[in-house]
Amino acid sequence: MQLPKSRRRQKLREKKCQYPGCGKIFFGIHISKYCPEHRQDRYRIRKRTKPEDVNIKNQTFKHTYTEVITMVMDCALEGCEHQFEVKIYPRQYIYPKYCPEHRNEYKRIRHLQLIGREDLIEQMKSESESFELEHGGAEGDAEDIDAIEDVA
Ligand SMILES: [Zn+2]
Ligand SMILES: [Zn+2]
Repeated sequence: MQLPKSRRRQKLREKKCQYPGCGKIFFGIHISKYCPEHRQDRYRIRKRTKPEDVNIKNQTFKHTYTEVITMVMDCALEGCEHQFEVKIYPRQYIYPKYCPEHRNEYKRIRHLQLIGREDLIEQMKSESESFELEHGGAEGDAEDIDAIEDVA
């Protein structure tokens, strides 16, 4: 008998569902924690429910422009020299703070690793819960892991 073929050619192995009281055996990739049933949204174990701080990925830019203008901003990531254009809209004050490349958290971490700022990675980890998805703490839809991108 052959194991079902995964879309991403990830190796499936026998896993035990980590959902409290379940313990069902299922086939999943190494970071899967829950059986297909407990992967569903309604079973998701909620973590801290603190509202996401918009300033993790975005910045508040107070302005008084009354028409749309284009501004050049600097990427807020330590050591990144990139600049990017942002359209500023009247009465809208939340804007991305990273250059397009660094709007992806994974890429920010890679960048910080390259410049040797592990301390900033730690800081970012504590600020962002989605970070856990990159490190095997994923609940549920682990198969889609490399599709995860920050939506700025
Ligand atoms: Zn289960
Ligand atoms: Zn950048």
